[in-house]
Formats: sequence, C-alpha cells, structure tokens
Amino acid sequence: MLAAVLIIVGLASVFGFGLGLAAIRFRVQGDPVVDQINAVLPQTQCGQCNFPGCRPYAEAIAAGEADINQCPPGGEAGIRALADLLGREAKPLNPENGEEKPALVAVIDETVCIGCKLCIQACPVDAILGAPKLMHTVIAAECTGCELCLPPCPVDCIDLVPAAGEERWRWPRPGTGRPAVPAPGGTA
Ligand code: SF4
Ligand code: SF4
Repeated sequence: MLAAVLIIVGLASVFGFGLGLAAIRFRVQGDPVVDQINAVLPQTQCGQCNFPGCRPYAEAIAAGEADINQCPPGGEAGIRALADLLGREAKPLNPENGEEKPALVAVIDETVCIGCKLCIQACPVDAILGAPKLMHTVIAAECTGCELCLPPCPVDCIDLVPAAGEERWRWPRPGTGRPAVPAPGGTA
C-alpha cells in the first residue's frame, strides 16, 4: 500500500515538474511593440478608436490595421508620442473618432439616482460604486471621463464636470522609462 502511494506521489511530482518546465519553455511572450504602444495610450478603455479598448487598438496599430490618430482621449500629445515611438509622421486627430476634450469626470446626482446599477455595468474601469436600489457614486480618481455611463442612465442623473489637476496625474508605467505624464486633457 505504502509503495503504491509513494509511486503515485513520485509520478505526480515528475509530471508537475515537467508541466512547470513546459510552462516556462513554451510561455507566450507579450509583443514588446504592442506593450510600448499600449503604454502610450490613455487606458480609458472608451472605444472611441473603434476598438474594444486600448490594448486591442495597440495591437491593431502594431499590425498596421489602424492608424495612430484614432484616439481622442490621447489627443495630439498621444499622436506625437506614438509617432515618435514608431518613427512615423504625426498627423491630426481623425475627426471620425471624435474630438479631444479637456479632462472631465463623471458626477452622479445621488438625490436622483435610483440605484439601477446600469452605469456600473457600462463603466470600463470600475470607477462607480453602488448597491441595488441605493445611491451610486463615482470615484473621481478612477474616472477617465469616457462618458460610457451617461447613455444607459434611465434618470439622466450623471453629469460630466471638469477634472481637477491631481485627479488626472498618472505615474508612469514601470519599465517604460517615460516621465510621469498628465492624463489626456489634464495638467501635470
Ligand atoms: S464613471 Fe462614467 S465617465 Fe467615468 S470612467 Fe466610468 S463610465 Fe467613464
Ligand atoms: S444608471 Fe443612473 S440611476 Fe442607475 S445607478 Fe447609475 S446613476 Fe443611478
């Protein structure tokens, strides 16, 4: 009986070790170009670029399937940063994707909110707090001003207001070597 248990434990260890080696050996490396492009994008996940988030847009740029001027939240500064990164000519923001706007954050009128949670489901960065049938509120420091929560609100109690400076300041991503930059439309 003991021998059988030892054999099973031994086999399990060997297979586990083998799987570990395989995971290291065959691990899928992220595409460094996509990572660098994504690091430039504002991470608002708003979809104005016609892609379902910043990373899919970065992948499309890297694959030559999208241009560098489709991100309104990133604005002219974002286009210049992408042009520098990719050694391309900067160009004006494509108006079909929208216009660059000053930094905004969403504010919920809690006296009107009915707690339907539709805004929470729409928010791509989880910046809204609330419970069913109770007031909801926006965490200003997390809100990117993407406006995706406004259309689903049945009582129209969400407004966009100018963002204060410190709400828009972002630390640079580790390892990018980039200076801390103001988020789109923000001031450092
Ligand atoms: S709270 Fe609204 S505006 Fe702010 S990030 Fe979420 S969906 Fe966008
Ligand atoms: S969608 Fe409007 S009413 Fe519903 S929880 Fe959000 S803010 Fe409140």
